[in-house]
Amino acid sequence: MIRLFILLLFITTLYSSEVERFRWTNGETYLVFLEKHKLPIRALYYNLDKDDQRLTEEMRSGTHYQVLSDSNKTIEQILLPLNDELQIHIYKKDSVYKFEAIPIISTTKIEAFAAKIVSSPNYTIMKKTGSKKLAQIFTANFRNSLNFKNDIRKGDDLVMIYEQKYRLGEVFSMPILHVAMIEMRHKKHYIYLNDDDRYYDEKGHEVEGFLLARPVRGARISSYFTKRRYHPVLHKWKAHLGIDYAARRGTPIVAAGSGRIIYAARMGSYGNLVKIRHADGYETRYAHMKSFRRGIRKGKYVKKGQTIGYVGTTGRSTGPHLHFELRKRGRAINPLRVVQVTTKKLKGKEYKAFVKLKKNYDESISLHLENQTSYKRHSKFRPMCYVHSLSCKTDG
Ligand SMILES: [Zn+2]
Repeated sequence: MIRLFILLLFITTLYSSEVERFRWTNGETYLVFLEKHKLPIRALYYNLDKDDQRLTEEMRSGTHYQVLSDSNKTIEQILLPLNDELQIHIYKKDSVYKFEAIPIISTTKIEAFAAKIVSSPNYTIMKKTGSKKLAQIFTANFRNSLNFKNDIRKGDDLVMIYEQKYRLGEVFSMPILHVAMIEMRHKKHYIYLNDDDRYYDEKGHEVEGFLLARPVRGARISSYFTKRRYHPVLHKWKAHLGIDYAARRGTPIVAAGSGRIIYAARMGSYGNLVKIRHADGYETRYAHMKSFRRGIRKGKYVKKGQTIGYVGTTGRSTGPHLHFELRKRGRAINPLRVVQVTTKKLKGKEYKAFVKLKKNYDESISLHLENQTSYKRHSKFRPMCYVHSLSCKTDG
């Protein structure tokens, strides 16, 4: 009996590959990661082109990744998610390890819930959903227009409609708020995501952000933010984690928001680079500068709109432009989603389109209020999904 059992065990081990889930630790570099898994550093780093090498720097602590090994504990495949759209795929082919950047396949769902306010909106949403991210996007978007301190009443209503990504059945990446409503002293306040990707209140006034949209006055955007883009010539997946502003050499660059300079020096392909740390874990980066403004150095506090340097083409750059990045807790985010120039009021055709969009949203909000739509809780991670990815349900 025991012999049979051992034999069975042996067979299962022999024919099963194993998926292990790891967490990218704080301060871990890609090279340390390769060493840890005994992977060839030359093939998987030194032989890569500059763009791919740069991608490897995008791994953030806390990110979960999967390693598929065969029965001899030899690594077959690794997936390293860089952001919510692009991942590094390391795999073995003809006993040689290969590196490629590939898109992450995810499904998107529109979800909603209604809640009765218990205390602060933050606490109410946490209690209802258990999701810190949902509480975050709600308070961040209302922060500049409402003061939650005094006018919150127990029993008032709150509704959120948002977009959530799923990957292999798991909630994945930051949700995007589409519309939110909060009642304060019997008055309902709304925020809507318009077709132009900006937030407006019920009167069609843009809700002001804390950063300037354009760190270079009057400059033209020559390249937009993208977490993944297929390069038609190189036939490769890449990411552009910032916005490029084409401008004349020497054009002043201003700080997009107030904060402390944490870096002002040369840095590899960034060329002359300034990094500014702002409130709430935000950081902006200004690359390829011709030169820094006099007195701009590490440790200095700068105000929103203050000149910090001049447009140039230092580092890896094909012509004079500013490469501008916005990061939150290290992770690159699209500046156009957070940032504004001046508060905009919708007019004419734009306003008409907004009213239509608003009408649809308002109807959904009324429905969710009437039904007191409850938040749908999600199941936990199932590691087997990664092996039998086809048979794994994706909640979709
Ligand atoms: Zn750029």
